[in-house]
Amino acid sequence: MTRVNPMKPSERMKIQRQEPLEQSPEGRIENFLEVSYGFDADRTIVEAQRCLECPKPLCVDGCPVEIDIPGFITLVLQKDFAGAARKIREANALPAICGRVCPQETQCEELCVLGKKLTPVAIGKLERFVADFEMEHNLFEVPSVSEHHAERVGVVGSGPAGLTCAAELARMGYGVTVFEALHDVGGVLRYGIPEFRLPKKILDLEAERVRALGVEIRTNFVVGRTATIDELFDEWGYSAIFLATGAGSPMFMGIPGEQLMGVYSANEFLTRVNLMGAWRFPDFDTPIRVGRRVAVIGGGNTAMDAVRTARRLGAERAMLLYRRSREEMPARIEEIHHAEQEGIELMLLSAPTRILGNDQGHVRALECIRMELGDPDDSGRRRPVPMEGSEFVLEVETVIEAIGQLPNPIIQSTTPGLATGHRGTVKTDEKQATSRPGIFAGGDLARGGATVILAMRDGRKAAAEIHRYLRGIPPGVETT
Ligand SMILES: Cc1cc2nc3c(=O)[nH]c(=O)nc-3n(C[C@H](O)[C@H](O)[C@H](O)COP(=O)(O)OP(=O)(O)OC[C@H]3O[C@@H](n4cnc5c(N)ncnc54)[C@H](O)[C@@H]3O)c2cc1C
Ligand code: SF4
Repeated sequence: MTRVNPMKPSERMKIQRQEPLEQSPEGRIENFLEVSYGFDADRTIVEAQRCLECPKPLCVDGCPVEIDIPGFITLVLQKDFAGAARKIREANALPAICGRVCPQETQCEELCVLGKKLTPVAIGKLERFVADFEMEHNLFEVPSVSEHHAERVGVVGSGPAGLTCAAELARMGYGVTVFEALHDVGGVLRYGIPEFRLPKKILDLEAERVRALGVEIRTNFVVGRTATIDELFDEWGYSAIFLATGAGSPMFMGIPGEQLMGVYSANEFLTRVNLMGAWRFPDFDTPIRVGRRVAVIGGGNTAMDAVRTARRLGAERAMLLYRRSREEMPARIEEIHHAEQEGIELMLLSAPTRILGNDQGHVRALECIRMELGDPDDSGRRRPVPMEGSEFVLEVETVIEAIGQLPNPIIQSTTPGLATGHRGTVKTDEKQATSRPGIFAGGDLARGGATVILAMRDGRKAAAEIHRYLRGIPPGVETT
């Protein structure tokens, strides 16, 4: 693509990285509306001018789905925002979602050459702006399909992995059905990530785009119960299946007191709020009581979402306990920053040892211990070690555990010959193929808990491999 920015690199490098508009912290803890408003058109253009349009763009290497980042930024500079959104959609079926929730700081933006001495181009915010522009102006165009195939593919799970695989296969000309156990589409994007980070309206519109490609989505369909995988092949006539059922079963710490009332897994807590409308009580008849003081255990995005949700539900003290230091926290930097602005208390190098209850069997306090960092463990991170005699007690009414999730075993246990690996994940090779011919898998089901974009990467890769499998294209031969 020809360069359109007449500015010299030295001039571009003098432009400051643009900051997004946001709701004030005082205002937003009273509501569930989106925190970040992203960029307006002016900021988008100024930010795009910072890009050096590198001939070898390192940012693309950092993007798991390899979006043509300088290509879309060039279209932004030409003020062709719809064209920029189309360019992103060539590699990413859910740009308005990724522009909001992807950890760009450890992906494309981490490798952006400007970040070496200055600050990287705000690629995520540019992506969000053009995707929102396309939505607001109803400019989405259904791409034409050059060839239709007779085979139909079943996709199990409608999270980012499933939706991406379905969209890619539909664009290749396959009939695709997505089977979703819940009553609504989106997986964690719907039941996990709260409205103030990812409005449901955005998810609905992105899911609508996937349907517009011809994908059928059947909700309230639990594969393994409503029909097994073998029935989908033998009785329903599917020729290949992509498993993308995620990792929705919560893990618990196994400390005393977890049976007390007022102890939740983050999964249950967020599902009750997001999917069952607890944040809109009394419009919805499923309230959730958090009390005045809430402790959330964990340091990832899930923990961050739970503690910020508790704050919005009225907790005066919303505390996050993490056993390592801030540098090791897996949550997105932007979310940690937003949480602190909202008055969330980060209690780092602290771990719970026991949950204490009152006479009615309800949580009254959390006993904790301070930690220090020892030698690195298998993950390469320094191992947290308890400091003897440093126990302390926090008075709380609610404890929420956000220490990780495991795959639900229903498909694994009802599909003979499907090999499983660490913690019940489904084993796949580099082509996302499982031990059973014709069955592919990806996303959190294959990785354990990961990220939206890695789930999408798997969905995209699986779609390409399913196409090869169904067309009998040997390895090494390019597909069109
Ligand atoms: C609270 C929270 C916040 C997060 N925040 C971020 C973030 O900011 N950025 C980021 O990149 N990642 C984030 N993540 C991680 C990210 O959401 C996941 O990695 C991603 O959603 C995984 O996608 P998936 O498609 O594999 O599975 P999921 O999104 O889990 O979707 C799986 C779907 O399969 C359905 N299903 C399960 N079993 C069956 C069955 N038997 N039959 C039919 N359907 C079934 C489920 O109902 C679900 O809809 C977060 C995770 C959580 C929990
Ligand atoms: S690495 Fe940074 S400056 Fe270079 S093309 Fe990518 S976004 Fe632009």
